[in-house]
Amino acid sequence: MARRGFVSLACLTLTAHSVGCMTTAKTAQLVLTDTERTIRERDKNAPKSSPNNAPILFLAFDGVNRDLLYDMLEKGELPKLTDLLSGEGKNFPHAYFDPTLLSTMPSSTMAAWTTAMTGVPPAVHGVSGNEFFIREESRLGAPAPVSFSDSKPTIEIYTDGYLNNLVKVPTVYERMRQREPNIAIWVALHQIYSGADRLLFATNTVMARALEEGLIKITKKTAKTATLQDDDKPDRAMFAMLDDDVIDKVVDALDDEDDPVPDVLTVYLTGTDLYAHVAEEGPDEARRAYLHEVADPALGRLAAKLRERGALSDRWVVLTSDHGHTPVRHDESHALYTEGPDSPARLIDKAGYRLRPFAEKVDKDKGFDAVLAEGGATSFVYLADRTTCGGPKGVCDWKKPPRYREDVLPLAEAIFQNNREGKLVPALKGTIDLVLTREPKPYAEDDLPFEVYVGDGRTVPLGAYLEQHPHPTYIEAEGRLRDLAAGPRGERAGDIMLIAHNGDRDIPDERYYFASPYRSWHGSPSRQDSEIPLIVANPRYMKEQIRDRVKLLLADAPRQQKITDLLLDLRGEPRKTTSAHAD
Ligand SMILES: [Zn+2]
Repeated sequence: MARRGFVSLACLTLTAHSVGCMTTAKTAQLVLTDTERTIRERDKNAPKSSPNNAPILFLAFDGVNRDLLYDMLEKGELPKLTDLLSGEGKNFPHAYFDPTLLSTMPSSTMAAWTTAMTGVPPAVHGVSGNEFFIREESRLGAPAPVSFSDSKPTIEIYTDGYLNNLVKVPTVYERMRQREPNIAIWVALHQIYSGADRLLFATNTVMARALEEGLIKITKKTAKTATLQDDDKPDRAMFAMLDDDVIDKVVDALDDEDDPVPDVLTVYLTGTDLYAHVAEEGPDEARRAYLHEVADPALGRLAAKLRERGALSDRWVVLTSDHGHTPVRHDESHALYTEGPDSPARLIDKAGYRLRPFAEKVDKDKGFDAVLAEGGATSFVYLADRTTCGGPKGVCDWKKPPRYREDVLPLAEAIFQNNREGKLVPALKGTIDLVLTREPKPYAEDDLPFEVYVGDGRTVPLGAYLEQHPHPTYIEAEGRLRDLAAGPRGERAGDIMLIAHNGDRDIPDERYYFASPYRSWHGSPSRQDSEIPLIVANPRYMKEQIRDRVKLLLADAPRQQKITDLLLDLRGEPRKTTSAHAD
């Protein structure tokens, strides 16, 4: 039975701000009626699971660099996780640590997890970032708003399948179910769950995720002074609650002996990323302490329950993450955020374009011919064919692509020149590493890869440009940006894509990002943002066997979409033994 709880988010947000809980709050009152959703009703007489194939525990960590996690495991700082990976001390005889996997571009949560869970790149699945514009519907998709603050989409991910509905291809779960109709799949807190049986989340967790928006608002208010007041210090306990709650929820659900342990169990830990964004001590120190003190003990509770149910003896454990983290300066001169005299919005405005307001929804009769979507190290600019707007204030036909010479190039030139000379918005001078663009195509057609805008209406292919202008910290930038831009939904990466000086710079003082002020962000093609862990373990196999299998699958393109191939491959074989199967 699902536990029920009715909670007002507005109330919690205000409480956290020590204002007290007022029912007169103007904030929309969102009511969560469940802490769990049954996505799929199973026929009464149908088997409750599909026990003949190898079971999987998929651990999804948000925002954890490969080096950081592997180093901690090798130093014995995560004893419970080590145990879960059948580590036997620090030897890991049954676990393979892949040293090659790279995040998708942009290296940020929504694009990355959608890629991992569908097996296709953003240009195919259509979730190009945490927020992006959908031209054919003239609306914003914003599963994790960056350019504005709104907790509604975050909550709707769990209550209404907000992200599921934005994904235009089958998920790994739907593909598993096609092969095995009776497969039992539970997903805890992960944003994508189409095809699963149950979505598990704790009301507190979802509220706290929304609350995190409130936290950012506090930091934004004080950003003008360039430093946070002491009493605004983000409280780690709040983030820890997220992960403790989600693990407790799973452990509770596994307590029900009438239900077989799911064939595939996905558990998503999110506090690592959320805390790293705001932690004063910097993302590395913050995540190390968090993983050791919060995530590891929580995973210990999960492992104990699974072991008690006899569900770990031959279960694959697959652990990965979505992206890394890069420290940035927490002030308005480094945060290239929406409105204000020094903002990218002002630049687009001064270049003669009418920008869409920063909000999930705008009035139908609101005319705009440019859209800016932000995402940390990168941002997307979408442009309309301005002949379709019927006048200077009219509503444009976004189904049509913009004209390259008349609509796209003038803005590319304005941004390029301002980056050089700062004539339109001086504060933005020298903040952009790459201005990318390409000839637009109708939205239903395959889009071209991005090229680098080099001034006077000229572009250079990305590969050639990077050869002439080496970016030693960028890794597989050409291939990963092709994954983002070239394909049926490549237009969702914008007509112009901006990559800020960030992952190409060694020190925070020289890094810029498209978001409100934070202490750490990601999204760039740098190693730091892109190198992610992939650990595959099973006590019935030796490390070398697992390594050969994983290497064969990743082949010469170790990108995030291969996670789906890997999960399908592991699940595809009859389980090694059923003797330990307790169900
Ligand atoms: Zn993040």
